[in-house]
Amino acid sequence: MHEQPPARPITARTQVVAVIGDPIGHSLSPTIHNAGFAEVGLDWRCVALPVRAGDAVAAAGGMRALGLRGLSVTMPHKSDIAAGLDRLSTAATALGSVNCVTRRNDELLGDNTDGAGFLGGLREDFDLEPVGVDCVVLGAGGAARAVVLALADAGARSVRVVNRTRSRAEQAAALAGTVGAVGTPADVVDAGLLVNATPVGMGDGSSAQLPIDPDLLHPGLVVAELVYHPAETALMAAAAAAGARTANGVSMLVHQAAVAFTLWTGQPAPVAAMGAAAPAALAEAG
Ligand code: NAP
Repeated sequence: MHEQPPARPITARTQVVAVIGDPIGHSLSPTIHNAGFAEVGLDWRCVALPVRAGDAVAAAGGMRALGLRGLSVTMPHKSDIAAGLDRLSTAATALGSVNCVTRRNDELLGDNTDGAGFLGGLREDFDLEPVGVDCVVLGAGGAARAVVLALADAGARSVRVVNRTRSRAEQAAALAGTVGAVGTPADVVDAGLLVNATPVGMGDGSSAQLPIDPDLLHPGLVVAELVYHPAETALMAAAAAAGARTANGVSMLVHQAAVAFTLWTGQPAPVAAMGAAAPAALAEAG
């Protein structure tokens, strides 16, 4: 069990970052980031600020005026906030989505840390680099798009996108360039990595919903679930029964926060301490 050091007292010198969104009351970010700041003895705090739809650019202005050091950006602001920033990273530009803002001197830089967080989670959970791996991604929303781009950039051999709405699958697959294509569930049979980037399976687990036919799962498959509540989804249980390796989305959550921590502070993130805080954050969020 990780013993969290006590946080430094808040003073006039305390630096502040915030997570903005609506709703925001269940965000795990403050707990995970504050555990990281306390671990390395930084006089920083993360707070959650509710910001209504349509107010993202005003929030970026508020960040400048108040001298906040960083923002973690959640729904519904991930595309709108770009208009209030000075520069965007390559990933944020390609995805059309910003989930992290960093203040560098007088400039606000927008980034998207989901893809790097996903790859960090793959490394932690499975010791897996996706170079040369055939991948299937279920879903084509914001999280899926970040995963598709990251897998292609990391050298995956193929990235097949399987989604309910075909036009969105085509847009997501295009992010992977020549290795991307719209796929079908049957592609899982020959895949090495399956990612569930749909919300199917989320909730109390009582519905035992599966995003794919469990007969397609096989030993040798790695199943990366992005859902983290419940801790074991119906897909993970079915995959384990089929002999596949599985993990939920907690590692991605922690690693994307770790990437933001480093962007904001310029320091390596204490990933283990941030990860150790995640279960408490999940329990608090209910
Ligand atoms: P999103 O933008 O709303 O996209 C949801 C995707 O799932 C869409 O492609 C949608 O298909 C598909 N979908 C939704 N309901 C479905 C259903 N009943 N059957 C089949 N497909 C369905 O959501 P998101 O932000 O990408 O998030 C997706 C999941 O990833 C959520 O569970 C979220 O909590 C999780 N997530 C986890 C992390 C992490 O750090 N672990 C980070 C981000 C997101 P259509 O295109 O047809 O509508």
